[in-house]
Amino acid sequence: MSDYRINTKCVQGGYQPENGGPRQVPIIQSTTFRYATSEDMGKLFDLEASGYFYTRLQNPTNDYVAAKIAELEGGTAGMLTSSGQAANFFALFNICENGSHIVSSSSIYGGTFNLIAVTMKKMGIAVTFVSPDCTDEELDAAFRENTRAVFGETIANPALTVLDIEKFAKAAHRHGVPLIVDNTFPTPVNCRPIEWGADIVTHSTTKYMDGHGVAVGGAIVDSGKFDWMAHADKFPGLTTPDESYHGIVYAEKFGLGGAFITKATSQLMRDFGSIQSPQNAFYLNLGLESLHVRMPRHVENGQAVAEFLQTRPEVAYVNYSGLPGNKYYEVAKKYMPNGGCGVVSFELKGGREAAMKFMAALKLAAIETHVADARTCCLNPATSTHRQMNDEQLAAAGIPAGLIRMSCGLEDKEDLIADLAQALDKIRI
Ligand SMILES: *Cc1c(COP(=O)(O)O)cnc(C)c1O
Repeated sequence: MSDYRINTKCVQGGYQPENGGPRQVPIIQSTTFRYATSEDMGKLFDLEASGYFYTRLQNPTNDYVAAKIAELEGGTAGMLTSSGQAANFFALFNICENGSHIVSSSSIYGGTFNLIAVTMKKMGIAVTFVSPDCTDEELDAAFRENTRAVFGETIANPALTVLDIEKFAKAAHRHGVPLIVDNTFPTPVNCRPIEWGADIVTHSTTKYMDGHGVAVGGAIVDSGKFDWMAHADKFPGLTTPDESYHGIVYAEKFGLGGAFITKATSQLMRDFGSIQSPQNAFYLNLGLESLHVRMPRHVENGQAVAEFLQTRPEVAYVNYSGLPGNKYYEVAKKYMPNGGCGVVSFELKGGREAAMKFMAALKLAAIETHVADARTCCLNPATSTHRQMNDEQLAAAGIPAGLIRMSCGLEDKEDLIADLAQALDKIRI
């Protein structure tokens, strides 16, 4: 599949039916797998042969779908996880341990911020957050002797900042560590971070990849480009013997292309068991089959809504990287020439009161904490996800009380704009 273009990969990547085999990805709804001899099974436990023995570690349905996502991102190997949270945790914890340090963009998803700043800190893993807009010098200054990874989001949820992937990749490589990029919002249809130097790509497949709001899931893709052996002292988990598998060395046995994902599967999935259910992997694949058709419509609707909102007196500002004049317009054009995603944020001049009235007046756009779905939805952080904060705290966090995050779905843009117009009329100033 690797010679085909991205649309073809969305439809036909991953699973390749055998002669007379099922056309659609089969759901292998089985926890275990049968072998004729103990020797056959023993080879799997020694990682001498590849195959399946227990769905807590690996399942064929998941692997078909992970292979498609790896093809879409231009990577060498991939795996599915139970959620985007699990994907980011595994991607980092596969190369970090007690005593390690991470450099992360400060503009990331709240759940990932908690994961890194609170939970991984309890595991003895430190972090330095840097602005996505930092200079090379500021970025270099964030690294320490024990830094093991750099992390950022292509388009951050919910701040919508755009990562300068090449800048972060070059800094990571200057310091001998990989760049991990969460590419959830643009999806590989709109951006392929590996082409710009990222080493590992993660996804919350819960968002556009599924696209219909049916299954929580995550994915990790390895570019196969990071040379673990060249920095062997930093990554002993990949470059020294794993005694739980008779002393194999992942980087030697599975090479550049396979070491990272094999280790994450055989150690982290074995021990944490955050596997995606095969049924959910099947739903995810249905979403992927139309991802290349849906993303341009999400972008078209996001762009139209952003341009409309800019014309309204009730709106203080609109944040969308497709608008000329947006701080990230140029960098977004470079990494995402066909547009980024359908998520737009904007601030209502009337603050909290106006936001509540506006949201209640919307008819098509539903109030949800979700984003990146076929159905348009919106959220006012001040009265929902961030309601424990007062107006001063919200302003300090860069989330004004009148801020609305709107995820433009696949409806007709004229209907979305009409819905916004009638709701804005109700708070006219
Ligand atoms: C939603 C999201 C996550 C977390 O994914 P879940 O599937 O909800 O666990 C991680 N990163 C980004 C950018 C997200 O939008």
